[in-house]
Amino acid sequence: MQVDWERFLSDKVAHRLEPSLIGEMMKLVKELGAISFTAGEPSADLYPLEELRASFDRAFSEPSLFAYYPHNGGLLELRRWIVDWMKKDGLAPSWLTTREVLLTNGSQEGIHLIAEAFIEEGDAIVVESPTYPEALLTFRRQGARFLSVPVDREGIVPEALEALLEKSGPVKFIYSIVNFQNPSGYSTTDERKAKILDLARRYDTILVEDDPYRYLRYEGRPQGSYFALDGDGGRVLYLGSFSKIVLPGVRVGWLAVPPELAPKMTELRVSCEISLPAITQYAVWDFMKDRDLPSYLATIHDAYRTRRDALASALREECGPLGLEIDVPEGGFFLWGRIAWLDDVVSFARYAITEEKIGFIPGSIFFADEADGRGTVRFSFAKVSPDLAREGAKRLARAMKAYRSS
Ligand code: PMP
Repeated sequence: MQVDWERFLSDKVAHRLEPSLIGEMMKLVKELGAISFTAGEPSADLYPLEELRASFDRAFSEPSLFAYYPHNGGLLELRRWIVDWMKKDGLAPSWLTTREVLLTNGSQEGIHLIAEAFIEEGDAIVVESPTYPEALLTFRRQGARFLSVPVDREGIVPEALEALLEKSGPVKFIYSIVNFQNPSGYSTTDERKAKILDLARRYDTILVEDDPYRYLRYEGRPQGSYFALDGDGGRVLYLGSFSKIVLPGVRVGWLAVPPELAPKMTELRVSCEISLPAITQYAVWDFMKDRDLPSYLATIHDAYRTRRDALASALREECGPLGLEIDVPEGGFFLWGRIAWLDDVVSFARYAITEEKIGFIPGSIFFADEADGRGTVRFSFAKVSPDLAREGAKRLARAMKAYRSS
């Protein structure tokens, strides 16, 4: 073909996007029929698919959902349900109404809208080290400059954040995944939240709270949110998602923002896509509205907890003696590991999948500066049965042995 696309594409698209390594690993898993610890997505067999289908059937028999452009902010019934639910759960400040809640095409679209709304070329934003790579991708595309702050088992390390903010100059926002962080599985405690919020106020920046895994807590005490803790401060944007509690294919999430920001975010939505399909929002609302959430979630939790424990013990037993250390989280989907002797984790991940047919995600992709991820690995247990966990861990052990001596 004759067109030199480089000449036409924007700099953003031509030079700031790159093929996703997660995509490459998942493709290899499929092609090679490998055992996979890669997919950070729910296991559909644990969810009541027939009930979800019935909710979609009811949505399809509501002509009003087809006849008009849906509301720019999203279906009012679902937004009402979200506001009630967040308040009952202690996650929302008392001022929250449907006006401040925008339904999104998964929380990923919320991340995109935030990037569009706030980031200008060269703006500094604080990201956790490690963090969610698709957020890095979106922020990078928009021209962000990353300031990485370490997280430990209680969340962002306040002293490190303070040192960073002290020398960095203005920061547009702090992006934090507060529960069962992707990839580390760490959750931010409420004590930490108070300290981080205090720093955000002192250094006059805002917080983007990304919380898609909140309802996947298998043990331990639920924590609150920055959004509620901030009260009338108006300094926090909250991203929620139905991807883990309904299923990711519905693509429904939400963005809750301070009142003064709500009109601008709706205008931004209109400029992007006018509105999102009301059909799926209606189906999600129909599916959620009369559900006994604690018992619904308990069934899902039991299965994920069993998978987590099976993968954790298989990896410890098979690969621990070879130098793999793992952290076991209280919820979410991920075991986060380190192999101290491993320098090039991407090369090892490619080796393990091609030679031993075992897929996992190299940890380096979760860092704004990939060198910080030396020797780190992410294993997802969400879709892994105990039998596969054991066989996969054995394969990984073989790969570690062979790679180390190669
Ligand atoms: N944030 C984090 C931390 C994630 O891990 C993901 C994807 N699993 C998302 C946001 C996007 O989720 P979704 O768009 O499906 O709501």
